[in-house]
Amino acid sequence: MDWDKRDHIGVYPQKQASLNYVGLCVPIGRLYAPEMFEIARLAEVYGNGEMRLTVEQNFIIPNIPDSRLEAFLQEPVLEKFSIAPTPLVRSLISCTGAQFCNFALIETKNRALAMIKELETELELTRPIRVHWTGCPNSCGQPQVADIGLMGTKVRKDGKAAEGVDLYMGGKVGKAAHLGECVQKGIPCDDLKPVLRDLMIERFGAKLKQKASML
Ligand code: SF4
Repeated sequence: MDWDKRDHIGVYPQKQASLNYVGLCVPIGRLYAPEMFEIARLAEVYGNGEMRLTVEQNFIIPNIPDSRLEAFLQEPVLEKFSIAPTPLVRSLISCTGAQFCNFALIETKNRALAMIKELETELELTRPIRVHWTGCPNSCGQPQVADIGLMGTKVRKDGKAAEGVDLYMGGKVGKAAHLGECVQKGIPCDDLKPVLRDLMIERFGAKLKQKASML
């Protein structure tokens, strides 16, 4: 059968009768140790102790019986690791970046999440947009397969060294997989948000929300 690419976030019935798997979104793929213990507890209490990781930096807890599903969905940790995240956070990917990786040319995860949340307050989306950040040319965040890929680099802004990105566009995954290409180099991170906003409007059908369009 020809499947479309799916991210597995949400609740889905398994082929085994009365069992379900639930995919939870981990924003920018950052999970701290206490959260990991809590997820492991959920997998033991509601499933069979198994959990699976996805290429989009999220996780799946399988084998949850119908009878336990409602209680599982009430667990407080699902407020952070949602089964129905906002659309840009849902498909946002980021490599580790300068906070914990010595190769990094820029900070990625915190910046990526903060910027995408700001864009979500400004834009209405008509389709998902996959934004991938990677902190250096090692490309752990795979910007080449993103709708909008951002690769960390050093730039000059107002005569000083600053953090910036090279912009990649045109990446596709699934049946028509295709690597995107670098279309613009050296955008200072401080100037990036309006660039992303314009791209989302012009190339991906996003619309300014009423309040944002009046600013
Ligand atoms: S892409 Fe570079 S900065 Fe990001 S995790 Fe990989 S090596 Fe580190």
